[in-house]
Amino acid sequence: MKTRAAIFWAPGRPFSVEEIDLAEPGPDDVVVRMAAVGICGTDLHNVKGEWSRPTPMVLGHEGAGVVEAVGEEVEGLASGDEVVLSWAPSCGECGDCLRGRPAACVPLHRAIGAGTLVDGTTGMSLRGETLYRGTATGCLAERVVVSSRVALPIGPGVPLRDAALLGCAALTGVGAALFAAEVTPGSSVLVVGAGGVGQFVVQGARIAGATAIVAADPVEGRREQALRLGATRAFGPGELDGAMSEVAPDGVDYAFDAVGDPSTTETALRFTRSGGTTVIVGLPAAGARLDLDPAQFTRREKRLTGTMYGSEDPAVALPVLLEHVRAGRLDLHGLVGPEYPLDRVNEAIEAALAGVPGRVVVTP
Ligand SMILES: [Zn+2]
Ligand SMILES: [Zn+2]
Repeated sequence: MKTRAAIFWAPGRPFSVEEIDLAEPGPDDVVVRMAAVGICGTDLHNVKGEWSRPTPMVLGHEGAGVVEAVGEEVEGLASGDEVVLSWAPSCGECGDCLRGRPAACVPLHRAIGAGTLVDGTTGMSLRGETLYRGTATGCLAERVVVSSRVALPIGPGVPLRDAALLGCAALTGVGAALFAAEVTPGSSVLVVGAGGVGQFVVQGARIAGATAIVAADPVEGRREQALRLGATRAFGPGELDGAMSEVAPDGVDYAFDAVGDPSTTETALRFTRSGGTTVIVGLPAAGARLDLDPAQFTRREKRLTGTMYGSEDPAVALPVLLEHVRAGRLDLHGLVGPEYPLDRVNEAIEAALAGVPGRVVVTP
């Protein structure tokens, strides 16, 4: 089977859009015609050369589309169904998978590092040469073949362009507040970094009933967006020290690092109150290290933790998020940023690198 895909070759080199070969779908696979693919910070780690992954690679792991064909053993999905892709085609057998944490699956993360699926294959090639899969998905393409387990039905009423954001940023960000930190009603929250994931942490905190939600981001447009989505205050990094001494002099109950840089983790931890919780949500560059004062955890009894993909099985979390979308509590549409056709993928990447407000979306 042939399709067109955006191919990442190396940091600093433009993507090419070419016809590639897809392996025939297996009995448990589905073919999805992609409608929208969000550009995620993880894609940008590759583009910036912050992670070393095999290339050429098809990036893209935050997507929604329409099922075009299903393998003979697929149940519960049919051609024409609208789906969101989960980027966790996990092994289904390890302890993490059995505990309902497919995104923590060790074989999956080994596969992501190797640019493959869990079975070591990629099912994609270009002129006979292996094409690797970004984040075990590789959906920056017109079509993708995935396990039916990661094609999650959306149901009616949510446009595919909005739904794409559910595939990574929303599950990660909202899940960080609802499932990882379990933010409680009436609590105070700081979100460091108001990019795609950060805006969803803000919304998750609002849905959970937090009454003080502070967003910190250097970009004014992102701060304004956070205020529209539920932040009660928003500050630039330079203002944060002064502002926090007024807003939350003892620190906040929950502080989220939605960036994943050691400096932003340090900021989140510093503004966490004694006994409060700091959650690392953004993924750090390879080799990043934290320099921590242990007294933060002994004398101040802070807890530092992290979350991967919302700390919940995407198949369990997605219906919860869809309910919030349909009830008007979770705004996807307002977070869709500029849209680009597949042929203009390089402009899309540049816009994402520039930090435009909203998620940059490619519409293959
Ligand atoms: Zn992502
Ligand atoms: Zn597993």
